[in-house]
Amino acid sequence: MFDKVLIANRGEIALRIHRACKDMGISTVAVHSTADSNAMHVRLADETVCIGPPAAVQSYLNAPAIISAAIVSGADAIHPGYGFLSENSQFAQMIEAHNLAFIGPSAEHISIMGDKVSAKKAVQDAGIPVVPGSDGAVESVEDGLAAAQQIGYPVIVKASGGGGGKGMKIAYTAEELRAAIPIAKSEAAVNFGNDVIYLEKYLQKPRHIEVQILADKFGSVVHLNERDCSLQRKHQKVLEEAPAPGLSEAERARIGKLCCDAVAKIGYHNAGTLEFLYEGGEFYFIEMNTRIQVEHPVTEMICGIDLVRESIRIAAGEAISFKQKNVRVNGHAIECRICAEHPETFVPSPGQIKSFHVPGGIGVRMDSALYAGYDVPPYYDSLAAKLIVHGSTREECLSRLRRALSELVIDGIDTTIPLHQALVENADIIAGEYDIHWLEKFVA
Ligand code: ADP
Repeated sequence: MFDKVLIANRGEIALRIHRACKDMGISTVAVHSTADSNAMHVRLADETVCIGPPAAVQSYLNAPAIISAAIVSGADAIHPGYGFLSENSQFAQMIEAHNLAFIGPSAEHISIMGDKVSAKKAVQDAGIPVVPGSDGAVESVEDGLAAAQQIGYPVIVKASGGGGGKGMKIAYTAEELRAAIPIAKSEAAVNFGNDVIYLEKYLQKPRHIEVQILADKFGSVVHLNERDCSLQRKHQKVLEEAPAPGLSEAERARIGKLCCDAVAKIGYHNAGTLEFLYEGGEFYFIEMNTRIQVEHPVTEMICGIDLVRESIRIAAGEAISFKQKNVRVNGHAIECRICAEHPETFVPSPGQIKSFHVPGGIGVRMDSALYAGYDVPPYYDSLAAKLIVHGSTREECLSRLRRALSELVIDGIDTTIPLHQALVENADIIAGEYDIHWLEKFVA
């Protein structure tokens, strides 16, 4: 097992990784920008290294500075968290080249899954159903029009190198598609440094359901059931739950097994998530995330398994500590992503936290790096806190979540707490009847 892990991230996920390491008796090294000198992940870590100025490109995206920090501090592994360099195959490669361990999959698998066209092909070849779409990349407007003719409108134009819900364009007619393709291509080049685009059938009422897997280096693969992340704004998740409302045991077992078989065939190792759109009783793969996800705690709450711990063990060459038959769905869990944003306009709201009170009691977990007096910097993602609640049933979970939200106090900045309070009172949410387009209409 590793003695010292460098955490190449900030905010709540840096704390989450720190906690898993300390629980395992591993010491931690925090890296930080000059804007984060007073951040909680820096305060709690055993050692800290300042890696650059506030701008992420000069600090949290600065691979040479991070790897140098690992070498200087004597860390033996680097955990990338999510975002920043977590899905950068070159970063993983550089780490291994310096005889350090990357806590994640191989650079090769990051690279295959990081390109959505190659990811779709890889999983399809391994037996996973994908969203109907163009056969690989769309090179020209004519190419796209011909593919859309086959698929049927509406279609969605997506960037192969895309992420973060950005760069997708919907076309209801050939005329709209003709206009969308050149714009999507040039935007993809600017935003993702890769102008490859492709088409998919635009599904009208799907749910977003994803399957968490863990795979070790000995070929064992397990799935930890699914999460429903359909409540999205601008293709970004806002509230997630596990298990997915309305999914039967048989469907859960079927998609879980398909994912495990495919992952084994591909030879992937470490934690990963296969994301699907689910409509009319069918699953359609959209992408695979090769890292720990923001919403992983809902899975931890229903399965009682520490996913970060398992990912560290796997990277250290250990076997997964349990078998598929030991994985149970125990009750229900919901996570609210609370952002430092205005609850109606969603304008980011950095600034000083005047008071901070965390809810408690049975089944309540708060993953956050906030504290009273902390200055939320304006340079990074607006995620401020994740409130995760568990109950023996979905009904109990919702009721407990209402109670927990009423106890939560974050004063001094705007937050999206009022949005979550409205969601947990809403009849559709209570009934579990919503799809990926529901929230856009709700906040419109
Ligand atoms: P990103 O990597 O940018 O997050 P994804 O491919 O994971 O992009 O898609 C993000 C979200 O966009 C999905 O959860 C879904 O809400 C929406 N989306 C993606 N593909 C489709 C599609 N074919 N039809 C309808 N909605 C889609």
